[in-house]
Amino acid sequence: MAEKMKQLIERGNKVVMKTYNRFPIAIECGNSMYVWDIEGKKYIDFVAGIAVNSLGYANEALERTIAEQAMKLIHCSNLYYTEPQIELAEQLVAHSDFDKVFFCNSGAESIESALKLARKYAKMKGKAGNEIITMIHSFHGRTYGAVTATGQDKYHKGLEPLMPDICYVPFNDFEALEKAVNEKTCAILMEPIQGEGGILPADKEYLQKVRKLCDEKDILLMFDEVQCGVGRTGNLFAYQTFGVVPDVATFAKGLAGGVPIGAMMTKDFVAQAFQPGDHASTFGGNSLATAAGVTVMKELFENGLLENVKRTGVYMTEQLKKLQQKHPCINDVRGTGFMQGIELSIPTGDVINKCIELGLLLVGAGHDVIRFVPPLIAEERHIDAMIEILDKALTICE
Ligand SMILES: *Cc1c(COP(=O)(O)O)cnc(C)c1O
Repeated sequence: MAEKMKQLIERGNKVVMKTYNRFPIAIECGNSMYVWDIEGKKYIDFVAGIAVNSLGYANEALERTIAEQAMKLIHCSNLYYTEPQIELAEQLVAHSDFDKVFFCNSGAESIESALKLARKYAKMKGKAGNEIITMIHSFHGRTYGAVTATGQDKYHKGLEPLMPDICYVPFNDFEALEKAVNEKTCAILMEPIQGEGGILPADKEYLQKVRKLCDEKDILLMFDEVQCGVGRTGNLFAYQTFGVVPDVATFAKGLAGGVPIGAMMTKDFVAQAFQPGDHASTFGGNSLATAAGVTVMKELFENGLLENVKRTGVYMTEQLKKLQQKHPCINDVRGTGFMQGIELSIPTGDVINKCIELGLLLVGAGHDVIRFVPPLIAEERHIDAMIEILDKALTICE
């Protein structure tokens, strides 16, 4: 490894807590679909900061918004009203089935907000229980409530006791869910497309049945759209792609194009469960983050990014399926829009490392899936460039 990179990595390992297994490269800058490491090597990026950099790198509109907003007002707390926050909330409401937004700073915080709201709502309605059902293989974040909601043992180890009254059922299994529902159930939480768990989409009929069950039993249906939301499926929200409207939805990752933000949305009848003082966030919805969010929304709707994801997403599926014909180690191609994955019968880590060597950034999901969550600006030529490198890497690793 080159000296400059090695030195920086050593400095980092000395002082930054080792909670991540990082790839041994240090990224310096980016432009459009590409990033460069500190040695000047160029990579085409199909990770996008894990589904965060929705407009790619160095997007001029986003740069301008952030610079101008920074000169005007970065933050002033929720003691006061600010226009960027109101404008982003208006746009999210206008393009969804929801009436109200709560802003926070991350995916996990948006889940905490939803968990609290679900229990408050049950109390408000005089319901007996506060049990929340979530899915096996789900991922909802790392704070205590969110990590408890996450249906994967490996994230729970050593953290016990976890938050009480959360239980797990297999995803896409309606009978198991129906059996788990009881008079104490107040909410069901799921990702319409499981992300970290391995790019596992819900069946449409399953979601329809779950919706009906929730209506019959007066249970809140909550979608975690932190990864699959904000344009990734070709609609603003993933629930629109599935045609099933939840009562509560959470967003984060791509919403402000890389500036930290989170949001929870719901309808008025649920929002009433939160009264002044019930929930808050110092940074939540600050002017810088929400101004960035407004710009992301503008790009999605006015610059044809949603259409691009729909069209180019189909192209990516076709190209991945072609690659599958050539490489039998690809067991499955799944997902939709710019949230797709391939399941491999060979170690994914080897393939990802080889791709990085060849100038392509990819990230895993689950234990045998490589995930494709590029910036929403990716075009067919970028898909072609990605496929070419992946093809080479697979040929070497097989
Ligand atoms: C990333 C992710 C989270 C957690 O978001 P953070 O910003 O890391 O807290 C929650 N849910 C889903 C579906 C995610 O993909």
